Amino acid sequence: MAGYFKDIWLGVSTVLIGMHITFKHWFKFKKAVTIQYPHEILEMNERTRAHLFNVADECAVCLQCARACPVDIIDMQGIRADKDEDLGLLPTGKPKRMHLIKFDIDFSKCVYCGLCVEVCDTKSLHWRAPVEPCTFTREEMYKSFATIPPDEVERLIAFDAERKVKKAEEMAAKKAAAAAAKAAKAAKAKAEAEAKPAEAGADAPKAAKSDVGEEKKETPAASDTPEKPGTPDSPDAPENTPKPEPDKS
Ligand code: SF4
Ligand code: SF4
Repeated sequence: MAGYFKDIWLGVSTVLIGMHITFKHWFKFKKAVTIQYPHEILEMNERTRAHLFNVADECAVCLQCARACPVDIIDMQGIRADKDEDLGLLPTGKPKRMHLIKFDIDFSKCVYCGLCVEVCDTKSLHWRAPVEPCTFTREEMYKSFATIPPDEVERLIAFDAERKVKKAEEMAAKKAAAAAAKAAKAAKAKAEAEAKPAEAGADAPKAAKSDVGEEKKETPAASDTPEKPGTPDSPDAPENTPKPEPDKS
């Protein structure tokens, strides 16, 4: 009988010990340590790598971030502004020269390494807190940061295509002009080269005649002909020319 009541007491006491912490928090009405996520969001630290954000107006479209990304998820496109167009200044103080028509990041593949933020000169690309990155669908993780409306993007693309065609035509015209100038120069050089032998041919008989006279005049007299060195009788014969030895017999 005593053992029966002892078991009952053991069961009740162990439950009370187990519920001790619960009762303590229950009756003390301590402030809750959990929140009703996602309806409530905790304030995040400024340096939290939670969500990338690009300020399109401050982006130089330099492609540094896209090149630095190890998983290649930054998809961007820019169009050079017209030379008379003023797009304002970048945070670096330099004039903005490119329209940002596309800047998409697929956050479902991002490894949150922060390399893109490190290389951004203008600091237009940065971590933004306290926005948290969770979504209910994978598609929602694909974010676009370009702010130019679609019809303006179309106009810019058409303008850029037209400009490229014009530039190509100008280049072709320049090349053709250069080729024509080169051909004209070559033709002139050829004509000059052909004209020279004709002139030389007309002067040739005169020159030949005068040469013959000069040749005659210059023919030296026989007495002036120098003796060949090495002739045994010659006084100029070299000393080392072997002389015939007298016959001793
Ligand atoms: S944080 Fe890293 S992985 Fe994510 S977009 Fe930037 S460079 Fe790419
Ligand atoms: S590095 Fe910065 S300025 Fe350059 S394209 Fe990327 S976000 Fe824009």
